[in-house]
Amino acid sequence: MSYKAARLAQLAAVKEQPGAPGPERVIWQITRACDLCCQPCRTRILDTPSPNELSLEEGLNLIEQLRRSGQPELQLTGGDPLKRTDIALLVMYAHRLGLPVGITLSGTPRTTPRLVGLLQAAGLNHITFCLDGPTADVHDGFRRQPGSYGWTIDGIRVAQGIGLPIGIETSVTPATIDSVDAMADMVGRLGARHWQVTFGGRPVRNAGGKLSPPTHGDAMERLAALQGTVNYRIRITPAAYFVGPRQGNGHASPWHPLELFVADNGAVEQWNSGRSLGNVRVDPFPVIVRRALQPAAEEAVAGS
Ligand code: SF4
Repeated sequence: MSYKAARLAQLAAVKEQPGAPGPERVIWQITRACDLCCQPCRTRILDTPSPNELSLEEGLNLIEQLRRSGQPELQLTGGDPLKRTDIALLVMYAHRLGLPVGITLSGTPRTTPRLVGLLQAAGLNHITFCLDGPTADVHDGFRRQPGSYGWTIDGIRVAQGIGLPIGIETSVTPATIDSVDAMADMVGRLGARHWQVTFGGRPVRNAGGKLSPPTHGDAMERLAALQGTVNYRIRITPAAYFVGPRQGNGHASPWHPLELFVADNGAVEQWNSGRSLGNVRVDPFPVIVRRALQPAAEEAVAGS
């Protein structure tokens, strides 16, 4: 047996350990279908769902594997996750298995009280709305999608109208960096429970180029100082190119928490880094998690 085959067999044989280190959060792109057309969007957007996206059965199996991988927070995203007709079933199953489950939305006319209420009844924990600036000029200008800001504010009101907690997710790029302080105020005024700040841009990546490392680092330090002084949690995801303090395995630290992204076709990568880790159609999720926690030498074996 080759070294690679032996090592993979050894990895596959590892039993899940209660309390074993796992991802803090899993972001699952349940579909790439979306009616909007933000420019540039890093998702290759489709009008209709891809025939290759994980089926309902595969999705339920993935959720079951997440339960055995430390019960991470599950964030359903897209595309527009509301374009997936079985989203309520996915939410209900994750909720029943004890996973805190949220969805990430860019507001659209699809964000109706009826649909949001259905998801709340299924066990949805919160909706995180993508808001990249405190005004339509900044948000719509960044996305080059007129109307997006208004739909998003409308969606926030819909969720709050039925008592569903909200969060805000903001992409920090050269186009939005000057609005970060104003956004911090706005997140508080909106009554959001958390603020996900993603450097480099999610889902719109690298619009207007990269922040310089000193600018990136200064903004992260300012946000970290804000933590605890505001009545919402701030979660920071640095850009892949930003090298901040890291822990021994080189991947997970307060600056670089272990967050995994599952694409609509099951491919897994480390969130916001592009580091490929395998595919849930090929490997059990706990094996992928172990691969994520391993240093580069093991990664080379898995990927060779
Ligand atoms: S950024 Fe989001 S809302 Fe805009 S086109 Fe891409 S997936 Fe759709």
